[in-house]
This record gives sequence, C-alpha cells and structure tokens, in this order.
Amino acid sequence: MNRKEDYGRRGRKQGRRMAERVLVIGSGGREHALAWKLAQSPQVSQVLVAPGNAGTAKSEKISNSAVSISNHAILAQYCKDHNIGLVVVGPEAPLAAGMIDDLTASGVRCFGPSAKAAQLEASKNFAKDFMDRHRIATAKWKAFTDPREARTFIQSADFPALVVKASGLAAGKGVIVAGSKDEACKAVCDILQDKTFGSAGETIVVEELLEGEEISCLCFTDGTTVVPMPPAQDHKRLLDGDQGPNTGGMGAYCPTPQVSEDLLRVIRETVLQKAVDGMKQEGMPYVGVLYAGLMLTKDGPKVLEFNCRFGDPECQVILPLLKSDLYEIIAACIDGKLSSLMPAWWENSAAVTVVMASGGYPEKYAKGLEIVGLPQAKDLGLEVFHAGTAVKDGKVVTNGGRVLTATAISKDLRTALEQANAGVATIQFQDAIYRRDIGCRAIGFLKRSRGLTYKD
Ligand code: AMP
Repeated sequence: MNRKEDYGRRGRKQGRRMAERVLVIGSGGREHALAWKLAQSPQVSQVLVAPGNAGTAKSEKISNSAVSISNHAILAQYCKDHNIGLVVVGPEAPLAAGMIDDLTASGVRCFGPSAKAAQLEASKNFAKDFMDRHRIATAKWKAFTDPREARTFIQSADFPALVVKASGLAAGKGVIVAGSKDEACKAVCDILQDKTFGSAGETIVVEELLEGEEISCLCFTDGTTVVPMPPAQDHKRLLDGDQGPNTGGMGAYCPTPQVSEDLLRVIRETVLQKAVDGMKQEGMPYVGVLYAGLMLTKDGPKVLEFNCRFGDPECQVILPLLKSDLYEIIAACIDGKLSSLMPAWWENSAAVTVVMASGGYPEKYAKGLEIVGLPQAKDLGLEVFHAGTAVKDGKVVTNGGRVLTATAISKDLRTALEQANAGVATIQFQDAIYRRDIGCRAIGFLKRSRGLTYKD
C-alpha cells in the first residue's frame, strides 16, 4: 500500500473525508471524458480506467487497470484490495449484466442503475410498456415474437412508415427504419427468423416512424430528484448531410438551440421526472444517468429510446460544460442527496466534438495505424478524448472503429464548430474519416430564428 492509500484509510477511520481512488469501467471516448472530469475533482486522488485506451494509459492522475470486468466477484475483490472508493460504469452492457447489483452486494460503492432499472435500455419491450403505463409520450407500437403476426400487423398498419427494433441490446445496430412495408417485413424476417441480432432479437418492437429533430436530453438522478443536463445532439450517419449508414455517432454539440428553456422544462417534467417517479413507484429505483433520446415532433417531444448511461459522443460535449464537481454529483446521487446539490452549474459556453473514425467503419477497418498530430490539436485548445486507440512500440495507434473525438469549447457554437474542424484536421492517420458538418443543423436553426440562443 502506498502512502496516499494509507492516509486515505486512516483519514476515513478518523471521520475525515479523504480524496478517493475512482475506477471507471469502459474504453471509449465517453469513459476518457468521465475520467478526465473526475480527475479534476479535489476529492479524487486517482482515476483508474478498466480496460481504458491510450488516452487513459498514463497521465498525472489517470491510468489504466487490467482487472477483469466480466467477473464481478474478481472486480469487487480488486476494488477492496486497491482501496477503490467509487466505481463509475460507462457502457450499458455491464449495467444490464448486474455489475451495480453485484458490486453493491459486496460493499463496493458504485454509480449506475441496477440491472432491473437498466431494463429501460436493455429491453425496448419493457421500456415501451413502461412509457404506456406512465403516460410518457412515445411512438405507437406493438411487440412480437411470432414473425407471421408481425407481418400481418405491418400489412394492416395505418402508419405511412415503420421502424422495426430488436428488443434487446444490439450494440446500437438493432433498429431498422423501413422505407416501405416490404422492407419492414424483411426486417422482421431477419431479426425473428434469421436471428441477425441473436437473443437480443427474440422479441421485436414495431413502431410508427416519427419525424422531427432528434435530441438527447440527459439527467443525473438519485432515484427521486432529477438534475437535467443541457440538451445535446448526436450525428448518427457516417457522412456529411446525414447521408450513409448509421454509426455509433460521428459527432455532437451542446447545448442545442432547438430546445428552448420552456421546452427543456416540459421534457424534464413529462419525460425525465415521470420516468424516475415511475421506476420508484414500481420498486426499481433508478439511480445514475438517465438518457432520453427524443424526437421533437409537431405534437411535442416523444421518446425514441431510453439509455441507462451517458451517450457517446454526447458525454464528450456535456461534461466539458459542467462547472460543478462531477464526483460530488455522483456521490450525492448514490447517497440520495441530490436535492441538496441542486442546481448543477454549467458553463455559459458551447462544445462541439468531432469523431475521427477508421476508413471502412462501421464495417471492416484496419487497426494499428499510427496517429500523429495529437499535441498540435492540444496546442489549438482542443480536448482530445481517445476511444479505439492503443500504445504500440511507444506510439499511439488506431485500435477500433471510432478512434477518438476532438472537442472544442468556446463562447458560442459557431466558434466551437470552427475550432473543432480546424483542430481535427491537424490529427492524422491513414484513411481517417470524419464529418465536416457537425453542428450545422443548429447553425441553420439559429439563422432561421434570427439569433435565438439557449441560456441555462
Ligand atoms: P433507438 O435505439 O431506439 O433510439 O433507435 C436508433 C435510432 O433509430 C434513433 O436514434 C433514431 O434515429 C431512429 N429511430 C428509432 N425509432 C424511431 C422512430 N420511431 N421514428 C424515427 N426514427 C426512429
């Protein structure tokens, strides 16, 4: 045990609040951003990231850990042996697999929803039923396990277009927006009969296609109190102008001028608070970050999906705007004391993040290509959050589809957008792809509404 850990234990015995060692679970840009923000807290002495990436490998306060994250008993023992005061879980899969339940049962303090609460993301069938029970606006829908029944429903449905979704977790790929009834029937066959998404597609949800602007509204919650974050917008399509295939997200910006303060209040009351209240009423209190993917339709905001964690890349534009101490907010959520911290404070600025991906993504791509220009991007004031990166022979190389996100923070969206684009161009690796129009929808909106801006 080193001196800092020893001091931590003695301090706790004497009833003083000591700086904690925090373990972040995951390896994406979201987890790099979480580690970066947590490391800024005076209450955090060190952040470990498991498994992490090249960006979290070694800095003053942040390093990687090789602990197994699939075996929760080993993970719990590791946390005790290494004096980990808090575990923060980034991705949905470990949450749905009960990591929070198992760590909590072993006496390890951790942040995120239980497996039951994570069903809001892990089962679209559960989420849609839940929204109906609690009158949360969403697309009209029906669930099926029988392909014949699904096809009969599709043929007789009076919606002009349909969306077919695998109910379970399918790594963001289980949603088919069908342009015709034939296409929807083919999706039913692919998912229910050909099992393209394995057991995640044992049940499907067929729903009406919603039209409008798509927005991500997230909040922190301790199971009772909801603290909303400024709204963000992701760009799911690979290419400029929202063309090409869907991806995990090619960039994001925050805040979104399309969501006025009034609209954010409506979303908070009719979606986020209602969901948290509903989960509490049903005996599955939801503690963690709740993400509502919304379509701003002409009839008001409707929920496309709930996620049980930060979005990636939304996290990389929301956390840089958080003025409050993230560790304190998380501790208040776990302790059921979020109301005493309200409100969270946000910078009156804008953030834009551009994702750099490997050529060929979201299909096949090469790995191990050297990345250059990272210090130059930093010199331009960008925060670079690594995702699919690794260190090989002392060099930073590509190691995944989405390689990194470059975030610019500025007083206004337009400047942040220019800085992000200029900065990302300094980073290079073979066949790199990235969008050059992140945030353009907001700029278009601002032009149309003659300079309206979002204020906290
Ligand atoms: P989901 O995982 O349910 O959010 O779906 C992934 C993406 O599919 C969303 O971000 C939307 O772009 C699109 N999508 C899902 N459901 C609908 C819907 N009912 N209408 C229109 N687009 C949808």
